[in-house]
Amino acid sequence: MTKFDEILVKKHLKRTKARIMILKVLEKSLPLTAGEVFEAVRGKDTRLSLSTVYRNCEALAEKGLLIRSSMLSDGLSRYEYAHGNMIHHAICLSCKRIFPVDVELESEYKDKMDEDYGFEAVEPRVEIYGFCKECRANGKAEEYKDHNDEE
Ligand SMILES: [Zn+2]
Repeated sequence: MTKFDEILVKKHLKRTKARIMILKVLEKSLPLTAGEVFEAVRGKDTRLSLSTVYRNCEALAEKGLLIRSSMLSDGLSRYEYAHGNMIHHAICLSCKRIFPVDVELESEYKDKMDEDYGFEAVEPRVEIYGFCKECRANGKAEEYKDHNDEE
């Protein structure tokens, strides 16, 4: 059994080729929409349909193997491999890619949430908007900033 077979068995999910392919693709990629996952696995198995990929992404997310999130103005759900520590998202304003990151947050926000809102913070998931390494290197970040200053 491969690593992914074992993961599926542990979560009492049927081991299907589609699920294993989806996990394989997402383990090594940035968060993707169901459509993007479909594009990635289609080359390996042409019988897979978009709805099959979507249903399987949902099933894997239900069991916590994938994390489903929607953000930005496109409102599309994206799936990412649940790596454990990489729970926050750095989102590039220029290329719109989402990078899971493992950064430590200051802990004072918990007290402040409790005091100001009576809210007990348990699991923070933060979206940090900015510019990725690539966009900073190829000038796209500066372009974006210039463009948005004009408006
Ligand atoms: Zn970027």
